[in-house]
Amino acid sequence: MEFEWLNSCIADETIELVLVFNEKGDILFGNQSAVQKLEYDKEELIKCSMMQIFRQDFLEGDNGGQTFEKETLESKKETAMYRKNSSCFPVNIHIIPSREAGIYVLMAEDISRQKDMNARIRKLKEEEQENQKARNEFTANVTHELRTPVNGIRGHVTTLLDQIQDEEQRKTLDIILYCCDNMSAIINNILDFAKLESGKFTIDEKEFDFYKMMDRVIATHSAEINKKELRFSVDVDEKIPRLMIGDELRIVQILNNLMSNAIKFTMVGYINIVVSKTSQVNDEIELFFMVRDSGIGISQAEKDRLFQSFSQVDASITRRFGGTGLGLAITKQLIEMMQGSIHLESEKGKGSTFSFSVKLRTNQSINENNDKIYGAWANFAKEEDKKGGDVFTSFGEIDKNEELKKRMDKLVLSIELSAWDKAEMLAATIKTLIDTDNDDLKKQVLRMEMAIRKSNYEKSMDMYEKVKKLLSEQIGEI
Ligand code: ADP
Repeated sequence: MEFEWLNSCIADETIELVLVFNEKGDILFGNQSAVQKLEYDKEELIKCSMMQIFRQDFLEGDNGGQTFEKETLESKKETAMYRKNSSCFPVNIHIIPSREAGIYVLMAEDISRQKDMNARIRKLKEEEQENQKARNEFTANVTHELRTPVNGIRGHVTTLLDQIQDEEQRKTLDIILYCCDNMSAIINNILDFAKLESGKFTIDEKEFDFYKMMDRVIATHSAEINKKELRFSVDVDEKIPRLMIGDELRIVQILNNLMSNAIKFTMVGYINIVVSKTSQVNDEIELFFMVRDSGIGISQAEKDRLFQSFSQVDASITRRFGGTGLGLAITKQLIEMMQGSIHLESEKGKGSTFSFSVKLRTNQSINENNDKIYGAWANFAKEEDKKGGDVFTSFGEIDKNEELKKRMDKLVLSIELSAWDKAEMLAATIKTLIDTDNDDLKKQVLRMEMAIRKSNYEKSMDMYEKVKKLLSEQIGEI
């Protein structure tokens, strides 16, 4: 069947420019679109040469004729087409040899609009980046400036606290201190966020004592946990080496954020931290952390928004609990900078489990004997889970006391053996376990810790006996 009429019809109607030309570059046919875009009459166009339309892109051929470069004949190419008035526009061209030798068909797509659009998008993107940079710099400057007055207020209030005896006035000053700390935390969050957004945040790798770090995190939150009468357990995998290389400050920041949220959103029940070593390849170690709570929980719909900046699951949360909704967004980015990821398992009303992994390094080739000092607590937490929520308070007290007794036992042994590092770690955990209302006991434990830190055998033993006596009065024979 003959379809030549169809060919010429398509060639004429298509929005692409179609030119048929020979090896010398003479134009033999131009479609409607070519006529319109190049602004020639149909007859005029046929008298033109490809040199006039494409200028230097149309080259002298090997066999005396004129043609495009070889690559243009094989693939699409971006070039420019010149109008009758010598102005030009960008096109994508595609050339196919026809069935007749020495005759070619060129199809060209006008890409001026696309190019305009791309240029506009590029400009908008550049402008947005500039704006973002300016906003981040402004935020970083303002928050930095805010730190100075807050620190100033804090310093003066602390001095006043040393001078004032009146209980009521002291309470007011304590509230001011609490507000200063809250404000500092918010300022730091905004500053970190601005730095992360502008890519100025770096991970600072140094050697640190992993167990001391965990002790510090526990110590930071134990007062608040005790105040809310929550049950607290920590389980750290004994295979984790003591000396690790990584950004200790940032790991503490992540744990502190997850812990403060867990405490903030848990009214009754427990909080549990689990840390395990999930893999080690040469000196690279992957650690897996889990912070579980029996608090108010988070629904599926709320989960999706959680790790975005400025997101709190509902506006009433801000009024009830405060916060900026930046904590988890920062946490997520920090974890990702340590080649890890964060996950959340939660059900409304049934508590939440935030878990995350991070990659660190260690120089410790042999696993030193790190006592599984947190193990007993974790087993206890599992038992608690089985029993359900309402028996928590009474069980917590019994377990804490048992734990104190065990640690006091281990401590005296460590002092006897002059294992000062281990003794220091035990003293620090004893400090987090003792009753914070007993001032006398608190002071003695601190003195004991100082003596151990100085590796002073006589003084350490002396202090140990005093602590033991006071503790026995409180929790029974040690
Ligand atoms: P903020 O700094 O305001 O606490 P976060 O990003 O840390 O912000 O948390 C955002 C929101 O996620 C909180 O306001 C709260 O609604 C919800 N959330 C976070 N952790 C918990 C948790 N452990 N239990 C229940 N809700 C939580």
